[in-house]
Amino acid sequence: MLVLFVLEAKLRGSTKQFAIIDEMIRTAGFVRNSCIRHWMDNRDVGQYDLSALCAVLAREYEWAKKLNSQARQASAERAWQSIKRFYDNCKNPSVKKKGYPKFKKSRSVEYKTTGYKLSEDRQSITFIDGFKAGSFRMIGAFNLKYYQLEQIKRVRVVRRADGYYAQFCIDHDRLEEVKPTEQIIALDVGLMHFYTDNRGNKVDNPRHLKKSEKALKRLGRRVSRKVKGSKKRRKAINKLGRKHLKVSRQRKDFAVKLARCVVKSNDLVVFEALKVRNMVKHRHLAKSISDAAWRQFFEWLEYYGIVFGKIVIAVPPQYTSTECSLCHRIVKKSLSERTHACECGCILDRDENASRNLLAKGLELLSRGGHSRINAQGHLNLCQISESKA
Ligand SMILES: [Zn+2]
Repeated sequence: MLVLFVLEAKLRGSTKQFAIIDEMIRTAGFVRNSCIRHWMDNRDVGQYDLSALCAVLAREYEWAKKLNSQARQASAERAWQSIKRFYDNCKNPSVKKKGYPKFKKSRSVEYKTTGYKLSEDRQSITFIDGFKAGSFRMIGAFNLKYYQLEQIKRVRVVRRADGYYAQFCIDHDRLEEVKPTEQIIALDVGLMHFYTDNRGNKVDNPRHLKKSEKALKRLGRRVSRKVKGSKKRRKAINKLGRKHLKVSRQRKDFAVKLARCVVKSNDLVVFEALKVRNMVKHRHLAKSISDAAWRQFFEWLEYYGIVFGKIVIAVPPQYTSTECSLCHRIVKKSLSERTHACECGCILDRDENASRNLLAKGLELLSRGGHSRINAQGHLNLCQISESKA
């Protein structure tokens, strides 16, 4: 089973070197956008034609040639991904936004297995293609030594508000051995608590994220007060960008740690496949929901399910909060009612009742083999997940 995950390290180099990295990123973007252009003009082109176009671009433009050929190919693949997504969406009538491929300003450049070298201690990376960006020390790369070089499938250099990062996509086909715990758990996520499980245990929403949210607002206002195009405004924008980065890191950290702990200490994890996007439309709920980072949490639950060889089931949302977990009567309640009280005598915390329903639904799905959707995927491409969130 192929499991990809990402290790990230910050690059340390000179201003001159980072200027070269900017050029590399621009070139990757140029290749990607040229592919999109080519597709727009000719329409019936396929992945193959785009990959052939890379060679043409390299012949025509001196600087495009400087970029490693596999890196050019990776850019073409990215273009193809967005074209393919568009085609897939067109075939699917339930998807409203088809996402016509657009030109994009690139923020990263991706290498596959050539065009760079890692040092013996794996603590620095040297780019050896025509751009000659040279060697960069890496901060936070100590884990890299645990992996074989052939496990590194891709290296992506990403530009962020606070500097440049190298992301290593690692093929992690060795599953971690974990003993069965003989525990099962169902998680009901909610606005009051991050989740409530079927035994009534609650995990609170991370408060520090709320605080950061306020700081973000303040910094945003500061940006809008500064004169457009001024140096002060640029500074304020950079500050805001850094804060955003910090918040998204905190959020990810929370999701990863919690998901790992939940999956490791249970053999079966059931959660409700919330339509987060639909809920976010609801204005008042929006902030807390994005804040709580459920979507990210769910992604990591599924990821650790694969790594630890546990079963993780997403149950489609259905009456879980109204149905009585004991007698299956429908007991309607408003959002503010925190207790489920049924005429059958079942009195439970509202969320605990919901998670018990979830568990029952999960077991039902499991007995019908309906969980295979998740584990049969075989791999979660966290490279892509992290890209959309970078
Ligand atoms: Zn009942």
